[in-house]
Amino acid sequence: MKYYSLNNKSHKVTFQEALVAGLAPDKGLFFPENITPLPDSFFATIDKLSHEEIAFEAIKQFVGDEIPKTKLKQIITETLCFDFPCVRVEDNVFSLELFHGPTMAFKDVGARFMSRCLAYFNKDKDIKNTVLVATSGDTGGAVASGFLGVQNVEVIILYPSRKVSDIQERQLTTLGQNIKALQVDGVFDDCQDMVKKAFMDESLKHKNLTSANSINIARWLPQMFYIFFAYRELKKYNKPIILSCPSGNFGNICAGILAKKLGLPIAHFVASTNANDTVPRFLEKGNYDPKPSVATISNAMDVGNPSNFIRIQELYNNDLNEFEKDFSSYTFTDSETESTIKDIYKRTKYIAEPHGAVGYLGLKKQMLKNPTFIGVFLETAHPIKFLDIVEPLLNLKLPIPKQIESVLGKEKVSIKIKTYQDFQQYLT
Ligand SMILES: *Cc1c(COP(=O)(O)O)cnc(C)c1O
Repeated sequence: MKYYSLNNKSHKVTFQEALVAGLAPDKGLFFPENITPLPDSFFATIDKLSHEEIAFEAIKQFVGDEIPKTKLKQIITETLCFDFPCVRVEDNVFSLELFHGPTMAFKDVGARFMSRCLAYFNKDKDIKNTVLVATSGDTGGAVASGFLGVQNVEVIILYPSRKVSDIQERQLTTLGQNIKALQVDGVFDDCQDMVKKAFMDESLKHKNLTSANSINIARWLPQMFYIFFAYRELKKYNKPIILSCPSGNFGNICAGILAKKLGLPIAHFVASTNANDTVPRFLEKGNYDPKPSVATISNAMDVGNPSNFIRIQELYNNDLNEFEKDFSSYTFTDSETESTIKDIYKRTKYIAEPHGAVGYLGLKKQMLKNPTFIGVFLETAHPIKFLDIVEPLLNLKLPIPKQIESVLGKEKVSIKIKTYQDFQQYLT
């Protein structure tokens, strides 16, 4: 399978090249050259297949012959080492829980898949890759855990000093081995600027720098897996399905739309956002006008210019009419999100955190238009990661899950830096 740059369709690379580069040299996102639907027989019998079998069928055309079948199956098995329960919250409404992985974030899936592909490509080589990640919290932990112990890969995480929670900081700084944490005296944007500068820095060419956000195809493509798993659970109800994704960089919803291109029967997509409403505004007003991000309580979605939106346009061949038949997007305030967390708990005893609650709100809004459909929203993080918000709202104490407990007692190790020169010096 070849991938082209969305800035220049004649620039084509292999799966491996797209994975290692992250972005094309012209800064375009990579996109698969062909998307071949899966046979009807696959969807007819999907409820008899295991998660590993489903994932293998979904991804194999995108990897092609670059990774042998048995190896790809092994990578998938290691990636999917946890559950993806589809929990009934109320009549016709389900929560697809993506937070049962090692760092309790859905980003575990993409990070684990990408790291193992990279390790495979590097296995007989002398080259070493350096993965750089700037994080405001969640991504860094998932990438650190996903790449831990992977040979010939070093991971360097930059996080803003004193601006991540204690749990998040421990997830970043206590692993050791090939994972290095740098504590930046500044805010998240300073971390991101340093990473961007490093990618442009000729003096760092020899470090083979790679990114690990959902721009990278090897993080984005495996996010299809759990959309297939949701269908496997909901098929028996025999009703059209709405999928609502609490959206930031629009990686999950873009993976869902790709799954539909492969034949997965999803009737409608909802991108639910917080106050960062660039896409809902676009659908309402017709012009795409990104704004700087604003801070909200669902902070992993504080994105002003969602990077995967351009891939979604490409999936619809830039046909806005077709796109709008399948896709809605709604924005919700923090106070709506808070009252929804309370309301869901009061009525159903289900504990949602802010991101999932935004997803729920978007789903319910769409179900008013499609009352005979069933719906699923993604619950993208465990409530414990947002305990400062969830506990006081619900007036309860959340038990600490074992994944979190295991990092609490460990010693934090990080290096403090202040300027780009400090970072450059550290890298060389
Ligand atoms: C990253 C993240 C999101 C946003 O996902 P996208 O695929 O970028 O839209 C939502 N919720 C949580 C908890 C996240 O960490």
